[in-house]
Amino acid sequence: MLSLDEALARLRAATSPLAETEAVSTFDALGRVLARAVRSRLDVPPHDNSSMDGYAMRAADVPSRGGVLPVLQRVAAGQVGVRLEAGSAARIFTGAPIPEGADAVVMQEHCEPTTMLDGRPAVRVKTPPEAGQWIRRRGEDVRADAVVLEAGTRLTPQALGLAASVGAATLDVVRRPRVALFSTGDELVMPGEPLKPGAIYNSNRYTLRALLQQAGCEVGDLGIVPDRLEATREALRRAARGHDLILTSGGVSVGEEDHLRPAVQAEGAIDLWQIAIKPGKPLAFGHVRRGVDNEGGPASALFIGLPGNPVSSFVTFLVAVRPVLQALQGMPATEPAALALPAGFDWSRPDARREFLRARRGADGLLELFPNQSSGVLTSAVWAEGLIDNPPGHAIARGDLVRFLPFSDRP
Ligand code: AMP
Ligand code: MG
Repeated sequence: MLSLDEALARLRAATSPLAETEAVSTFDALGRVLARAVRSRLDVPPHDNSSMDGYAMRAADVPSRGGVLPVLQRVAAGQVGVRLEAGSAARIFTGAPIPEGADAVVMQEHCEPTTMLDGRPAVRVKTPPEAGQWIRRRGEDVRADAVVLEAGTRLTPQALGLAASVGAATLDVVRRPRVALFSTGDELVMPGEPLKPGAIYNSNRYTLRALLQQAGCEVGDLGIVPDRLEATREALRRAARGHDLILTSGGVSVGEEDHLRPAVQAEGAIDLWQIAIKPGKPLAFGHVRRGVDNEGGPASALFIGLPGNPVSSFVTFLVAVRPVLQALQGMPATEPAALALPAGFDWSRPDARREFLRARRGADGLLELFPNQSSGVLTSAVWAEGLIDNPPGHAIARGDLVRFLPFSDRP
C-alpha cells in the first residue's frame, strides 16, 4: 500500500495547472487564486503621516524642559498643510500628511492648548519630542514596484485589503476548477424524502459539495448513482464532459456492489488505489477519457473516488483532494499548518496505518479524543476542531506532543 506522501506526490505530478485566467473585481476575489502577481506602482503610505492626534513640529525647536510654540496651521486627514515655519507647530490628526519641515509629532495628551502673549493660538509642549516620533514613513508598508502578492496566492480578506491598498481594482485569477460530484449507494435517499427501510440519508453529498465550494470550485452535482456498473460508467462519461475533476463517494472498496474501480478502468484508468491511512484506505485516483465533444482541453478528466463512510470521505478530502485542487489552481505545494500540542489521553493500540484522529483542545490545553473514532460517526467531525496526524504504529502517552491539524486551515 502507498504511503500518503507517495500518493500525494503522484497526485500532484498527474495534475496540470489550469491555464485559463480571468480578471475579477477585487470585491469578488475572496478565495480565488492569483494567476499573476500584484505589483505596487506606489509607495504605501504615499506620504509621511501622523500616527497620532497631536501637534507636528521640529524636535529641535522644543527646549529640553518643554516650551510654547505658536500653532500656525491645522492639518486633518485628507488635507495637505504648508511648509512649517521655524519655531511653530501644526495641529495634526491621525493619517494627515506631515507638513514639510516638521520632523516629529507630540501626542495631544502631552500638550496643552494655550495662547501667545499676542493672542495667537499656541501649544505648550510638556515632553520634548525625539526626531521622527509618531511619524509613519512614506513606503514603510509597501515600496513602489514591490510585489505585494505572488502568483499562486489564495486571496484572504486581508490579501484583498492589501491589493486595494496599492490601488488594484481588479485581479487576474485562475478560473474556478470545475468538479463533477456524485454519490454512489442504493441505500441513499435525500433529506426531504421518506426514509424507507434499509435506507440512510445521503450526508456525503452535502459535506463534499460544501468542501468543494469552500475551496473555490464550480460544482456539477450529478446526484446519486445506483450501484450498477453500466449506470456508474454512464455517470462517469457524463461527468468527464466539461469538468476538470470527477469526485465520487462510496463504491471504491472490494465488495461485489463496489463498481467504481471497474467503471473507471473501462472509461479510463485507475492510476492509484488504496493509501495506508485510517480512515480512508480505499481512496482511488485515476482519469476518465473525454468524449468527442471535448473542446480542446485535456483528453481526460481527473478522477478521485473517496470512500463512502462519512468521516472517511471528509478526512480524505482534507488530506488528498485539497492538495489536488491547489495544484489545479497553480498554488505551490505547502504543508498544512500543523501545531505540536500535548495529548490529554493514552493511545496504546495504534494502527499500522497513519491515523487521523478526531480531537479538540480541552480547557486544560490538552488534546481530547472523541470517544468513538469509527469512520461512520460523523458527530466526531463536528465535535472535533481538527485531526491528530499520528504516524504508523505510533503509541501516544498522556503529555506527549502530537501533530495537530486544525480544520480552520486554509482550504
Ligand atoms: P461504501 O464505500 O460504498 O462501501 O460505503 C461505506 C459506508 O458508507 C456504508 O455504510 C454506506 O452506507 C456509507 N455511505 C456511502 N455513501 C454515503 C453517503 N453519501 N452518505 C452517507 N453514508 C454513505
Ligand atoms: Mg456503497
